[in-house]
Amino acid sequence: MRKPITKLKASTVDGQVVLTWYKASGFMGDARAAEFARFRIYRREERRFVFGSDYEEFFLCRRGANLEPIFEGSLPAGNDRKFSFTDSDVAMGRTYSYFVQTPRSGRIGPVPVKVRDPEVWWSYERITSRLRSLAEGCPDLVRLWACGTTCSGREIPCVEVGGGGRTLGLVGLIHGGESGPELIIPALERLVAESPDLLTAARIVAIPAVNIDARQQMVAGTPWYLRTTPAGVDLNRNFPARWHEVGYGYGLDSSDPDSATYRGPCAGAAPETRAVMSVFSERRPDVLFSFHWLASICELPALAPTCEDRRHRPYCRSVIESYARGLYPELPFSENWLAFDGTPGALPTWLYDLGCLAAFDLEGGVRAEARPCQTDQTDRSLLEEYQQRHYDAIRSLLGEWAA
Ligand SMILES: [Zn+2]
Repeated sequence: MRKPITKLKASTVDGQVVLTWYKASGFMGDARAAEFARFRIYRREERRFVFGSDYEEFFLCRRGANLEPIFEGSLPAGNDRKFSFTDSDVAMGRTYSYFVQTPRSGRIGPVPVKVRDPEVWWSYERITSRLRSLAEGCPDLVRLWACGTTCSGREIPCVEVGGGGRTLGLVGLIHGGESGPELIIPALERLVAESPDLLTAARIVAIPAVNIDARQQMVAGTPWYLRTTPAGVDLNRNFPARWHEVGYGYGLDSSDPDSATYRGPCAGAAPETRAVMSVFSERRPDVLFSFHWLASICELPALAPTCEDRRHRPYCRSVIESYARGLYPELPFSENWLAFDGTPGALPTWLYDLGCLAAFDLEGGVRAEARPCQTDQTDRSLLEEYQQRHYDAIRSLLGEWAA
């Protein structure tokens, strides 16, 4: 049956859900005005949706049962074509499906949306404004610039903090649904405010939010995990480091454009990859951490590229031991906290190939208390705890460099 509306969408704005839709082109004009005289809007809370296990397909199969009617009436049309409805009676952390019905149509939907805590999932606006404040508050110590643009045209911010000596690289959101800005930016703010002495003998070069396009989609309410850029590229398979080798991790195929680990049409094809490369080929890090895992949290294990160099492995181990002293002051070091893996096309693999640089993907799974992040249940107190842990971990490493 022909549908009278198009571009039906649900997104979150300031903790509310905003539904928008347009008249379909075949239904424009005065003769079809009655079709848009009244709307009915229905909602259902999707309690059974589980982040990390369920994806878009969960909703594709959902029909209009157990719906709650939340609106019936007329709505004004912007430019005689666009409608919008705001549902402010929603709760943080919940996932909803919406349906819209016109006088003669069936229910059209579902359009799903998750209402996420903006304190736990930082938006592009929050990330850039926190970085701007950091740079403006301490211009002697902090330099901020755009190191490139995403495939959607957003500028990717890069920040350099401190003077010289050794360089620590910090990279976040290589994968949109994972971690980075919420851990990296507060650590930089506190270092500048509380321990500027540590930054005289070292500098930090940070790109806290690389795949910011996918992150924005999650901030706007996409309920399921997003990994690739909107262009479908897994950035941690796109770096020019053994890129031609096909990876089969997670039961996927990195040469397959349909795969969530698609390496892209050529090495460095993604503008986000090139932005990261431009920064770190010029400012070679002695150590780099790329923040992964899920829903704004990461910890250990750290994954480093496989290497044959005898001196490199003990160096990697000493770096992770130092980081772990700050991250887990309550735990004795475990050999399981560092693994050598060397995924083709990954950022750490590229840095290792560039000059034996010690680069790590930070994942997770050590502390049971952090596991709620795997199902997108990270709350403010869990995030605060991990902000403190990573701050202490970075201080631990810089403290050793300063000694
Ligand atoms: Zn990842």
